[in-house]
Amino acid sequence: MSISGQAQDKVVLVIHGGAGTILKKNMSDEKEAAYEAKLREALEAGYAELSAGKTSVKAVQATIHVMEDSPLFNAGKGAVYTNAETQEMDASIMRGHDKEAGAVAGVSTIKNPIDAAIAVMEKSEHVMLAGTGAEEFAEKQRVTIVDSSYFKSEVRLKQLKRVQDHENAVLDHDGDDRGEFDGSENEFNIDYIEDKKFGTVGAVALDSSGNLAAGTSTGGMTNKRYHRVGDSPIIGAGTYANELVGVSCTGHGEYFIRNVVAYDVAALMEYADMTLEEATAKVIEKQTEMGGKGGLIALDKDGNVSLPFNTSGMYRGWVTESGEITIEIYEAGE
Ligand code: ASP
Repeated sequence: MSISGQAQDKVVLVIHGGAGTILKKNMSDEKEAAYEAKLREALEAGYAELSAGKTSVKAVQATIHVMEDSPLFNAGKGAVYTNAETQEMDASIMRGHDKEAGAVAGVSTIKNPIDAAIAVMEKSEHVMLAGTGAEEFAEKQRVTIVDSSYFKSEVRLKQLKRVQDHENAVLDHDGDDRGEFDGSENEFNIDYIEDKKFGTVGAVALDSSGNLAAGTSTGGMTNKRYHRVGDSPIIGAGTYANELVGVSCTGHGEYFIRNVVAYDVAALMEYADMTLEEATAKVIEKQTEMGGKGGLIALDKDGNVSLPFNTSGMYRGWVTESGEITIEIYEAGE
């Protein structure tokens, strides 16, 4: 979906809370209301920063904080479990006008990984720090550190167990070691697919100086091993911003890395002169052809927004300059 900034009030902030198998028929009214309320709160937090004349980076940070602090999303507090029953979180930020960027990968004790990514951008000479080194740096920069017990939850642990049971079952039955399923909606598969749904969070903001910033934060994928890192902390893959556009992605990270998705949107606009809508449609088409499930949010310098995805849903929303909020979850028409 794309909304033209010319036709209406321009969009100043757009967010996602992950794409995946999100079907209305599997959603209770309470759960839907809880997601909508949290997405609204996140948009309001970022909009308050923009209205106060703060930068797009501050708006992205405030927005992502709300989602990182909520157990509803796979980031911060709600980060999914690794195979070793730990959390390993990734986050990144990019500022469009000077192309400064920061990222952390595989951190386990940082309450709000987006803060650590911003600290890397603003206070280090590096772009990406990983693991305990990133934690040590973050602590020195007074980023809030928590005990790893802060991230523990029964719900996420159960999810891990279901994914592990399911993947073992597949290994046993047909030797498919990729842990992929055909998507058929029998009862056994539903939980697996639900548990695998990608709940990463992201935001792109446009501030009153016309500067864009994009940020993404995630717990990665349930049951991941070997310190697997997805696209979210990789500048150009999961997050990108320049003077023209800001992009944050969600989905099966390996495909987003291989297609350098976030940068591809910007490159198509810059070099092929595509509109935001054309560029994002092209990129998602490429993802779909390759089998990469997910979606993205993109906001350009004129306040046009595009939120395409090739899954059944994506938690998403945007707010215009005058403060009008829109929130959507499912495919259009559902
Ligand atoms: N893209 C993330 C990853 O692969 C997952 C997600 O979007 O939820 O780590």
